[in-house]
Amino acid sequence: MSKYVFPAPEVVAAPIKGEDGLFPIGRIFCVGRNYEAHAKEMGVVVDREAPFYFTKASSTYIPSGAKVAYPPGTSNYHYEMELVAAIGKPAFRVSKEKALECVFGYACGLDMTRRDLQLAAREQRRPWDLGKDFEESAVLSEIVPADAIGHPTKGAIELRVNGEVKQSSDLSLLIHDVAAVIAHLSQFYHLQPGDLIYTGTPEGVGPVVAGDRIEGLVAGIGSVALTITPAE
Ligand code: MN
Repeated sequence: MSKYVFPAPEVVAAPIKGEDGLFPIGRIFCVGRNYEAHAKEMGVVVDREAPFYFTKASSTYIPSGAKVAYPPGTSNYHYEMELVAAIGKPAFRVSKEKALECVFGYACGLDMTRRDLQLAAREQRRPWDLGKDFEESAVLSEIVPADAIGHPTKGAIELRVNGEVKQSSDLSLLIHDVAAVIAHLSQFYHLQPGDLIYTGTPEGVGPVVAGDRIEGLVAGIGSVALTITPAE
């Protein structure tokens, strides 16, 4: 007799560069408005005092290279290219100086967004879940261990749609860098191995439609790709 009344969901896990083992994904934290030029294009004056967050369920994970159908309930489906930090050790109330010790590695991520629903929620002072936390919305490349590449704090972050450059910035322009985000987030959560942090997107966000191919890169880490197919 099974313990569960229906099959339990499988553990969601991402590939790791140079290793056979997978990285089991726990929580997905996302930083909002972490590049000044993106905050500006969203019509918001940036708050440099402290980062803010929203979350996505681990079940929203989709590997780089996937094809995804244009999602339901939106007519303004956006890409957001992001550096992602993957947590490999517990961290609670860590200082900025020690924050990076808990980082397992880094990846390229796409924080796919139903922008119309996000902005409607923002307008009505409601949560962003419908705009952000939806199926196949957390695209992720393989995770590159920090042992191999260190902890990048500068370098290009770019995104192209059908070969045309849409986002082009530099990690050095993050308002709150990875260490600062972990130091802050760990005041509120016991960060655990498996947690992911999408660190925010630079300016140049925009819509995609069925048939589009998105390709993003972060210098020194790798690339991420997604192809959009017609709505179901
Ligand atoms: Mn984002």
